[in-house]
Amino acid sequence: MKQNIRFFCILLELIGKNCIFVAEKVDKTAVIMAELHLYKCKKCGWEVEAPSESTDMLMDSIMACYVCHDCQHVFKKYYALGTVFNGKVSCPQCKGYNTQDWEPNDGCPKCGGELENQGVTCLMD
Ligand SMILES: [Zn+2]
Ligand SMILES: [Zn+2]
Repeated sequence: MKQNIRFFCILLELIGKNCIFVAEKVDKTAVIMAELHLYKCKKCGWEVEAPSESTDMLMDSIMACYVCHDCQHVFKKYYALGTVFNGKVSCPQCKGYNTQDWEPNDGCPKCGGELENQGVTCLMD
């Protein structure tokens, strides 16, 4: 499934940060599993469970991670296959729209520290 994930990441880059297109055609015979890793900040100890890339595929949806620049909250959103999402993502914590897609490589949203991968915490399918 890595191929498909790549495909989505490329699409995301092509169509801009605040737009998501989720393809309708996915090979359902393949085993689709998203791995969540636990990331811990080396500086302040902040923790988050996230896929190793900013987007990951589940059985019938795409999981994407975002960060809110107003309250430093990292959250996940799920998009059903066939969805075309266009617009700003609102933060579930402060309801603001100052959000951006996020991945562990971007570092800790609280202090900017480096995140350390603590390993897989759960598998979702
Ligand atoms: Zn930190
Ligand atoms: Zn927020």
